[in-house]
Amino acid sequence: MLLIESLFLQCLAIALGACIGSFLNVVIYRVPAGLSILHPPSRCPHCFRQLAPRDNIPIIGWFLIRGKCRYCHTPVSWRYPAIESLTAFLFWSVAAYFGSSLPILTLCFYAAFLSWLLALSMIDIDTMTLPNSLTQSGLVLGLIYQISLASMGSGDRLSFPNQLIFGIGGAVLGIWLLDIMRVAGRVFLQKEAMGGGDPKLMAMIGMWLGWQNVLLTILIASAIGTFFGAIALLTKNLGRQQPIPFGPFLAIGGAISLFFGKPILSTYLGWFGLT
Ligand SMILES: [Zn+2]
Repeated sequence: MLLIESLFLQCLAIALGACIGSFLNVVIYRVPAGLSILHPPSRCPHCFRQLAPRDNIPIIGWFLIRGKCRYCHTPVSWRYPAIESLTAFLFWSVAAYFGSSLPILTLCFYAAFLSWLLALSMIDIDTMTLPNSLTQSGLVLGLIYQISLASMGSGDRLSFPNQLIFGIGGAVLGIWLLDIMRVAGRVFLQKEAMGGGDPKLMAMIGMWLGWQNVLLTILIASAIGTFFGAIALLTKNLGRQQPIPFGPFLAIGGAISLFFGKPILSTYLGWFGLT
């Protein structure tokens, strides 16, 4: 890929990411509340006045209204432009990191996977739940991704049945391991250490990334979760009984595995002389 093409792709990814991020804000707010994500159009959650088109411009719109509703002057959370910026950054990362080596369709799938992870993480932080509608649709999209990879049949991809086994095996292993962790947590910690949605999120990640990355994702998620939990306990921000949502850690583990799973796993296997 030429430099100019690569730069164009990266700019496109940032613009598209900011727009999708704007939509993710709607998903994060409305899905747990059981509202439609398509109707009505974006409006102020306080005075319900519909936003002007210029207010809907991702990231910039928030600065134009100086973080306050144009009509009722209620502060609009900085989280909205932050999520739009984060989505733009994730999309840019996909374009910059994989742009020269993978087909556009695969880049779009990666961007979709990261969007699902981000929306689920924020909903888990807000409500301590992972809606089935999102984990299930993410799982189905992961299956479609595996089918599309198999039918492209390019590069180091597996044959059709093996590619499906790779994805479905990852989903089964993911839900199975997290269920074991959940039961173990209940037995040893005498409390519900994990929500019922976490195994479903892990199944979704497994479907996308395959079984090897399931192990890596759980390892990373547990490490970050333990670190975060220890910091929270030390700084006394959380009581011992206060649950911490595990979904965001799984999502971070999944995102790291998407980008770096292959080099990490081959280095690791190399230590044992397996590659
Ligand atoms: Zn308002």
